[in-house]
Order: sequence, then structure tokens, then C-alpha cells
Amino acid sequence: MSKPKFYITTPIYYANSRPHVGSAYTTIVCDVIARYKRMCGYDVAYLTGTDEHGVNIERAAEKAGVTPQQLVDKNEKIFRELWKLLGITTTGFIRTTEPRHALAVQNLVRRTMRVSPDAIYKRKYEGRYCIYDNLYVSDTPEPADCQICGRPGELVSEENYFFRLSSYQQKLLDLYKNNPQFLYPDFRFNEVKSFVESGLKDISISRKSVKWGIPWPDDPEHVFYVWYDALTSYMSGIGFVDGENDGPEFKKYWPADIHAMGKEIIRFHAVYWPAFLMAAEIELPKQIVAHGWLLFEQEKMSKSKGNVAYPEPIVKVLGNDALRYYLLRERFSARTAIFRARR
Ligand SMILES: [Zn+2]
Repeated sequence: MSKPKFYITTPIYYANSRPHVGSAYTTIVCDVIARYKRMCGYDVAYLTGTDEHGVNIERAAEKAGVTPQQLVDKNEKIFRELWKLLGITTTGFIRTTEPRHALAVQNLVRRTMRVSPDAIYKRKYEGRYCIYDNLYVSDTPEPADCQICGRPGELVSEENYFFRLSSYQQKLLDLYKNNPQFLYPDFRFNEVKSFVESGLKDISISRKSVKWGIPWPDDPEHVFYVWYDALTSYMSGIGFVDGENDGPEFKKYWPADIHAMGKEIIRFHAVYWPAFLMAAEIELPKQIVAHGWLLFEQEKMSKSKGNVAYPEPIVKVLGNDALRYYLLRERFSARTAIFRARR
């Protein structure tokens, strides 16, 4: 009898600078879950990777006097070395600048346009956007500040491809109702449900003003917008191509059993991602697990604020078992999810 499969992912980390202890936190938590599942007899796939596109990378590269490719080549190595130092047992690593990933993203949108012809359309977009956190601050041109970092949003005005998220409201609510464990923990699930119940707007999934990204199929003036590109890595990283060309790993491990992440990106995973997959008629992940932030003097640690602790010195002094123990014992408020996680 073959072993049951288990597939877990970390988010792909943004490669505009080196990883801090917050990225290490999610990766270590997933690693503990992966190890536990192996002990229970599962055949485990564990994927991490780096998000290497977008205007933030362009700007960081410009500042450093290198090309975007040179910057991400340098930074992804630092991530890989850290995971090695921490004894992380991933089975795969995906970079969004890899050709296999670009092909997967283009194929996913082609497939979507084929099976759900109304799901994607083109129109003019005007709004405010935070380039540091990669999110829309508001859908109107009036000045507005970012909810996460407090910086003023930049004005964006251009033709974009849009995903018709508004027509997935009821389907998402049905999904949540039929899958009470779709998002853990419950209080965060309730926030997502209220957000979806309050109504969904269509979202832009391409950019014309950004050059550093995956070209839109048959319309290369556009590149894919951050989330469509980034989320697809969960499939490209295990061999998604499209339908009959999918690799054996994809056929074996998809759908993901757990996508784990910090709470700031739940909405993209629990709302956008299942809607993208429904539109492409692809099976949905089984569970999203979200954890809180590691705080630094009561503020979220973030690269853009510069109030960051790094794991290397901790590991060099105390060893990675100590860091793993500390993070799981003291910090992982959702740690029971490890043992409750659905089979
Ligand atoms: Zn921001």
C-alpha cells in the first residue's frame, strides 16, 4: 500500500532583501509540521521559494546599482543558505523568475480564459497602491495611506487585465460553509467571511507600468501582477503545466493540504486564490493556516521599516533546536493546528 500524501507550503518570500526572523518563523513552523507528518507515515512534499518580481525589486536593484536579475540571484542564495543553516527539510524551492514558473502562470491564465471566458477582462484602472506592501490602498484616485505601513499610496492609472472576483462571492461563501476548517484559526476565518459577505470588487491582475514581471500571453506590454504570479508558485513548484502535461509530482501532491502564512496575507490566500482556481477549474487547497506577527517592541517587524531581527546570530550562538523550540513554544499561537491539521 502506498503512503498517503501531504503537501505543505510556506509563502514565497519577497527577494528584495535578506530574510528576517519572521520569514524563518513561518518556515520553521511548516518544517515541524512536515517532520511530524513524516513520522506519522505520510509522503510529504514541502515547498518554499522566492517571489522575485515587481516594482520593489526594480527599485531595490536600481538603488544597489545592479540589474533586477542580479539582485534576486544574490538574495535567493541567502534564503537557501539560511534554510540549510536552520536544518529545514523542504523538498522543493521555486523562484518566480524560473521559466517553468512563467510557463505555469501563462498556462493558468490561458486555461482560465478557455474554461471561464467571462472571468478575465480589460479596463482602465485608477487607484492608490502601496509599493512596499504590494497592495491596493484604495480604488479611487484621491490620496490615501497604506493600512499596513502608513506610507502614502502612489497613484496608478492604466489599462489592466481584471479578474472578475465579484462573481465568486457566493461560491466562496459556499466553500467556507461546506469546509469549516478551510481557514485556521476560527477568528481569522470569521474576518475573511465578513469581508466576503460585504461584497467583492474585481481585481487587477496585470501591470503596464512595471517591466520586471511575467509577460501576459499574446499581450506582452502587460506583465502579471504580484498575486496572480506569486500564488501560482504553489503549483508551478511541484510541476503544474496544464492538464495532461502536468508533472508526476503535481498529479501526486496537488491539492495542497496546508498553505501556511502570516496573517497579513490571508485575504489573498483565502479569497483570491480559491477564486482563481475555481475559474480555472482546478482543485482547491484543503486548508489555510495563519499565524500572528512576531513583534519588535510592539510593532510588526518589517524590512520596509528596518526594525528587523535576523536568525543567523541566534542560531550561531544557541543552535537551531533552541530557535525552533523558542518560536514554537512561545510564539506559535496556532500551534495546535499542527495536530489538528486535516489529513
Ligand atoms: Zn504599505
